[in-house]
Amino acid sequence: MHGTSLKQRARQSCPDGSTFLPICRQDMARRGWDELDILLVSGDAYIDHPAFGVPLLGRVLEAQGYRVGIVAQPRWDTPDDIARMGRPKLFAGISGGSLDSMLAHYTAFRKKRHDDAYTPGGKAGARPNRASIVYTNLIRQAFPGLPVVLGGIEASLRRAAHYDFWTDRLRRSILLDAKADLIAYGMSEQTIMTIADRVRNGEPLEAIPGTCGLGTPPADARALPSFEEIQTTPECLLGASQAIEEQVHHGVGTLVQAHGTRHLVINPPAPLLDTAALDDVYDLPFTRRTHPSYALPVPAEEMIRWSITAVRGCGGGCTFCALALHQGRRVRSRSSQSVLKEVRALTKHPQWKGAISDIGGPTANLWGATCDIAPTDCHRPSCLFPSRCRHLRLSQKDYLSLLRQAKSQPGVKHVRVGSGIRFDLAIEDPAFCDGLTAEFVGGQLKLAPEHSVAHVLRLMRKTDFTLFERFRKLFTSANRRAAKEQYIVPYVMSAFPGCRVEDMKALATWFRQQGWRPQQVQCFVPTPGTIATAMFYSEHAPDGTSIHVARTDREREKQHALLIPRAKRR
Ligand code: SF4
Repeated sequence: MHGTSLKQRARQSCPDGSTFLPICRQDMARRGWDELDILLVSGDAYIDHPAFGVPLLGRVLEAQGYRVGIVAQPRWDTPDDIARMGRPKLFAGISGGSLDSMLAHYTAFRKKRHDDAYTPGGKAGARPNRASIVYTNLIRQAFPGLPVVLGGIEASLRRAAHYDFWTDRLRRSILLDAKADLIAYGMSEQTIMTIADRVRNGEPLEAIPGTCGLGTPPADARALPSFEEIQTTPECLLGASQAIEEQVHHGVGTLVQAHGTRHLVINPPAPLLDTAALDDVYDLPFTRRTHPSYALPVPAEEMIRWSITAVRGCGGGCTFCALALHQGRRVRSRSSQSVLKEVRALTKHPQWKGAISDIGGPTANLWGATCDIAPTDCHRPSCLFPSRCRHLRLSQKDYLSLLRQAKSQPGVKHVRVGSGIRFDLAIEDPAFCDGLTAEFVGGQLKLAPEHSVAHVLRLMRKTDFTLFERFRKLFTSANRRAAKEQYIVPYVMSAFPGCRVEDMKALATWFRQQGWRPQQVQCFVPTPGTIATAMFYSEHAPDGTSIHVARTDREREKQHALLIPRAKRR
């Protein structure tokens, strides 16, 4: 039923990882604790690295003096695992993991996956479907009456009524299905500290920025279409999703959504961390390793071991991207000093071999970007679509300089940019394109034009395909000058709402004309909460026009097969 072997569980109860946050009574005893303040439960294995939400929040709370323990991938047939450190004094925080648990378990064609990068040995089966709900039930069994706060991507994206692709129906807010007390949505460092302080002081958990809960909405709250209205009129999901996107972007305003007689109150997001606060978070004492109790390596740890998060948020506002709802569109960057400090720390790692695989984030070349007006004065859904907003200030030269400084640190042989870059911004600065191509691309550069057909790109909020072609020319000439043979790997999507078979044929023709075989083709998955998912569910574009949607797996398969024959799919 779950992937953790008896041997692994036995080792987990007897770890040698004293610098990690406690995972068992022995760890607590080593710290002189007889109880926890806060128990964090995660659907991922425990990797003590700031790229993972639960360990990150654990370190943030620890730095505030809270006694925090982590239970990773607990058994779900009994509450024993979840109860092994005893009842915490304040509350339990639950995350389904780095991915929505349904997305982690099923392919775009609803087939069961066998792999899971966030689990020891990379094997699926270590967490249940709808992990946030299952873990909340376990907490309720083990510790009746303990406040439960849901967080992480699964709860964040399912915070309001949402379409669930895996059952092909509308679901209520996950708060109601899980019967939890609160959802902390988005990047929750400040939110979780406020919650901890309030519970400790016996104060109510109402109106905390970055949370949603059931209750009485303030008089000025903006009403979203109710769960029942969306059920009857699917187009209402588009309006609700756009209002939630705006709330995240503007950072103000309370939303309310009725579910029957109950009201889900979505408080405004927590203020974004500024550069100094971000630097402080990444400076916390992470071991940057997988917990030593695991007998097998965790693939996700290997993927991020030599990468550095330098930036949060993305101004792109692509309609299919969950980031707009989770991290927001306002970019926040760490200082170059903080990034370089982390580079130097990596060079001291016992397995260091000299190469940094990434210095980036959701969009690497947005590092250092700023907007010169207040979020509430912005009425655009994207900083980059249909063209770059005049208020967006870029720092691509500074980003290139940061990469070069990282490369010049003692012990560093290579620095690569593994994160996505926006080619539509890169072409504005040929010197940036030159430097990036000649010094920081490791043979292949992954780019995401996503499609070639104009009306599909518009629905995605992606810029004109000619900009991709222009970047290609710059990339080719930069490679020629640097005497390098390197390639672009374009990421494209099939079966996006509004995309017809003819559009996929046009994309396939473009690949053929280039003499390229498509390598990275994702069939659109309607993940909860996004604008594109509302388009899929309602069969309408955001402007209210009706669109064709490949709803059946048969048509989705057909579109996908035009680029990737069934036999070649991974
Ligand atoms: S004003 Fe322009 S740059 Fe600023 S957030 Fe809005 S779209 Fe982005």
